Amino acid sequence: MQWTSNKIRKTFLEFFNGQNHKIVSSAPLVVKDDPTLMFTNAGMNQFKEFFLGNEKPENTRVTDSQKCLRVSGKHNDLEEVGVDTYHHTMFEMLGNWSFNDYFKEETIDWAWKLLTEVFGIYKDRLYITIFEGDKEDGLPRDTEAFDLWNKYVPADRILDYDKSDNFWEMGDTGPCGPSSEIHVDIRSDEERNKVDAKKLVNRDHPQVIEIWNLVFIQYNRQASGELKPLPAKHIDTGMGLERLAMVLQDKQSNYDTDLFQNLIQATEKVTGVSYSGSDQKKDIAFRVIVDHIRAISFSIADGQLPSNTGAGYVIRRILRRAVRYGYSFLDQKEAFLYKLLSALIKEMGEAFPELKKQSTLIEKVMKEEEEAFLRTLEKGIQKFSEYRKKHDKVEGEFAFELYDTYGFPIDLTDLLAREEGMKLDLDGFKKALEDQKNRSRKATSMEAGDWVEVNPAESTNFVGYDQTEAEVSVARYREVKQKDKKYYQLVLDETPFYPEGGGQVGDKGNLKNGSSQISIFDTKKENNLIVHFIKELPKELKGKFTAEVDVTKRENAARNHTATHLLHHALREILGEHVEQKGSLVRPDYLRFDFSHFQKVTDEELQQIEKRVNELVLENTPLVEKRNIPMDEAMQMGALALFGEKYGDAVRVIKFGDSVELCGGTHVPATGALGLFKLTNETSVAAGIRRVEAITGAEAYRYVSERIQQLDIIAEEVKNKKDPVKGVQQVIGQNRELSKQIDSLKQKEEVAERNALLSELKELNGIQFLAKTVDLDAGSIKNLAFKLRKELKNAVILLGSKDKKVTLSLIVTDDVTQSKGIKAGEEIRDLAQHIKGGGGGQPFFATAGGKDANGLDEAYKQIEEKVKSL
Ligand code: ATP
Ligand code: MG
Repeated sequence: MQWTSNKIRKTFLEFFNGQNHKIVSSAPLVVKDDPTLMFTNAGMNQFKEFFLGNEKPENTRVTDSQKCLRVSGKHNDLEEVGVDTYHHTMFEMLGNWSFNDYFKEETIDWAWKLLTEVFGIYKDRLYITIFEGDKEDGLPRDTEAFDLWNKYVPADRILDYDKSDNFWEMGDTGPCGPSSEIHVDIRSDEERNKVDAKKLVNRDHPQVIEIWNLVFIQYNRQASGELKPLPAKHIDTGMGLERLAMVLQDKQSNYDTDLFQNLIQATEKVTGVSYSGSDQKKDIAFRVIVDHIRAISFSIADGQLPSNTGAGYVIRRILRRAVRYGYSFLDQKEAFLYKLLSALIKEMGEAFPELKKQSTLIEKVMKEEEEAFLRTLEKGIQKFSEYRKKHDKVEGEFAFELYDTYGFPIDLTDLLAREEGMKLDLDGFKKALEDQKNRSRKATSMEAGDWVEVNPAESTNFVGYDQTEAEVSVARYREVKQKDKKYYQLVLDETPFYPEGGGQVGDKGNLKNGSSQISIFDTKKENNLIVHFIKELPKELKGKFTAEVDVTKRENAARNHTATHLLHHALREILGEHVEQKGSLVRPDYLRFDFSHFQKVTDEELQQIEKRVNELVLENTPLVEKRNIPMDEAMQMGALALFGEKYGDAVRVIKFGDSVELCGGTHVPATGALGLFKLTNETSVAAGIRRVEAITGAEAYRYVSERIQQLDIIAEEVKNKKDPVKGVQQVIGQNRELSKQIDSLKQKEEVAERNALLSELKELNGIQFLAKTVDLDAGSIKNLAFKLRKELKNAVILLGSKDKKVTLSLIVTDDVTQSKGIKAGEEIRDLAQHIKGGGGGQPFFATAGGKDANGLDEAYKQIEEKVKSL
């Protein structure tokens, strides 16, 4: 049987579906409501809230194939990727889950059955690891798992490992438990006879590798480090699709499976280099490229564009790593990655339609990023060659600068250094890198204490769609330390506070109890838990409180949220259906909306868009809100869903006339409440992504009325109430006319002055001489000097001026310089002393500035003496 990767994925899901598991879809790659995580790095991420007990699952058995990205934080495989043959940045994790349903026995039975009976992997090639126990944590060996495995696998192939390998933890605190891994030996018989695979398990051998991890979640780690048994036990398993494909397709490398073959061939075609297996460096470059193109494309499709910070920066670094490998080892000096997208779509477009739908955008973004990086790379290489001229060794600090500013990974710097016969201070580089990591860790580190239960509640009931005030009690709280600040997070049994989400900022407001009042400065969602941020705790936590949302802020935010929907609708109507929302920020004071569009939005289009939104406002279309309807029904209503958003089975639909969106935000009861919609700005955020900003309601009124007031003042000033624009144009016209007149008057004045000067020249020692104070500014004197240079022969002229400041200008015609050796630039320095200043210039013209006008006459006398003596 031919196990294509599509078939493997399907078989896995169907197998667990057959055991009553609900098949759910992959969550987006980018994680939005978890401060500890940037990207989905394991299948369990999207179910965290069930493990934490924040929410009850609808189905207690679930299975899926999850897109994962392991490039930051606790799981970071980036440096391995491409160097080895079985770690990827982005990969698919097949998993099955039990939320307080079945436990170890079924998990192990099904895993064994699926691998050996359905997929037909030889039993004697499989090795099992289990948890050996831990004294410090007071945990025994997982004999339960051992006994269950021992039904199928001889004891000598069930290996004990310590907690670093076989005890899984979600984070510093939270649900955790022993795990049991399945490893497979895919070496040739000859190799197998030489070395027992038992000795190779967990030893980074590329052909004796872990394929499936079964985690038995049964404890909760407290902030104190102590473990408490969980009341509900869960199962979390994960198996890499790419590794399983390698095993089932009888290959020795993930890259030789069908998942990568198309991409490798396309890369060969684009670069003209072949993936031969004979040149290590080139082969690594191939693997890096075909791996990274997946991570980059899927992230962009999920709405994460490369950028300078956070998740966007991680994506930018992945892209740069691929470009750099292409540059260094496959001789790609121009953008090339974007050309591989069509091959990726051919491979994965069917399972992931978002790739196809967004291909133009992905391609544009990639190309622009590549080109920008290649320019930086060139600059870095220049920097390196300059450095080379002055140094014999590459210092750690410099290697770090190349890394940090020019995106040079250390192996590129190493390569350049070796080419130049220079030594590289690797330890120094590592230290600089570590220092930077520590700095940023300190800046972002957040320490959360354990939750303290006050009035235990199962989950928070959100009532904020219907009311802005509620009688509540505190369910639990915890202390959080961030940088030097300390604050508290509070969970209520019920809350009207909207938690930040869907671009809309969290509500602010108060928590009141009798006469005491505490301010809630933000509200966020964390793993589906609504968390209120407060600076200090109420003195008494037990009783009832009134939670009051700041209504003005909320209503303004609602106006802006509705405005984004109308704007989205108008943009699609006017610019076209290719417009897709790529991000938004909805605040009480303004809104920001990013969308895909491939050129600047023209002023005319902006006017049309603004007009259209205001028409929709005037129509005063009422809100139609559907809460908790099945996704299918929402789709039938024509609802727009966003790529990269995580939607449950039941969704909320917000409809204003023809604008229909899946949305969890707060909105106005009818579009008329917006009052007025005003666009304020249009810019570009990245290749293919435009951003507009807008305001509504009181803010829009304020803006417009301020503008009109300014206009009134202008009308007043230009004395044209009816048509201030014409008035201003007239003033500008007059101004231009006046400037012209002034210029021509000045010219005339210069001519007159020149003629007057010429008539005053007298002969002294055979030279035409004049020294006097004139009524011209420095600019005019200079103009004059340049003219006289051409017209006059045999002349020395010193002109003083008291206009604004005291200056001296000396003109010595070229023939005098030649015959008598006197240079204006030299002479002027002496003359300058008389006016207590300094100066310099060219042989034929020099100027000096000073403070003392009384010395001008002395200066004239001195030059006269000089001329006499020539
Ligand atoms: P390894 O030790 O090989 O890095 P792991 O212990 O990090 O694996 P888990 O966190 O247990 O792996 O993930 C579950 C499964 O996901 C693994 O058994 C493997 O099949 C797959 N997997 C993990 N990391 C990667 C990766 N970077 N690329 C591809 N598959 C992976
Ligand atoms: Mg790993």
